[in-house]
Amino acid sequence: MVKDIVKGNQIFLKAEDMTTLDLNVVTDLIDTFNANRKNCVGLAANMIGYNKRAIIFEDQEEKKVMVMLNPVITKMEFPYNVSEGCLSLDEMHNTKRYRRIKVEYYDVNFKLKKKSYSGFTAEVIQHEIDHTNGIII
Ligand SMILES: [Zn+2]
Repeated sequence: MVKDIVKGNQIFLKAEDMTTLDLNVVTDLIDTFNANRKNCVGLAANMIGYNKRAIIFEDQEEKKVMVMLNPVITKMEFPYNVSEGCLSLDEMHNTKRYRRIKVEYYDVNFKLKKKSYSGFTAEVIQHEIDHTNGIII
């Protein structure tokens, strides 16, 4: 189901772990992401009203949409500053990101995965994982 994007303060909460009972969240994340593709490169579940640790984004290198459950960044290298926008905010904000990151997450079958990302995809993942931790840019 396509959900409305939550704006402002409600998404500042730290989200709870996804469990196997929460897979409806994944379906709604995918539907809402597809409905917003023109102006959106990633979403976190708490942006669509679920206080759960799930994110979706397009992997620019592999040209595919990825869903990560309970993602954690385990390594960050090469910091830089960048101006970012967010569907939940009206204006751009400056923030610090890392060019290369390593992420541990569960896939939609709850298999533990580890993967390294760099460049813009890494930036989007950092932005969305921040959302799950209640941090907005
Ligand atoms: Zn955002």
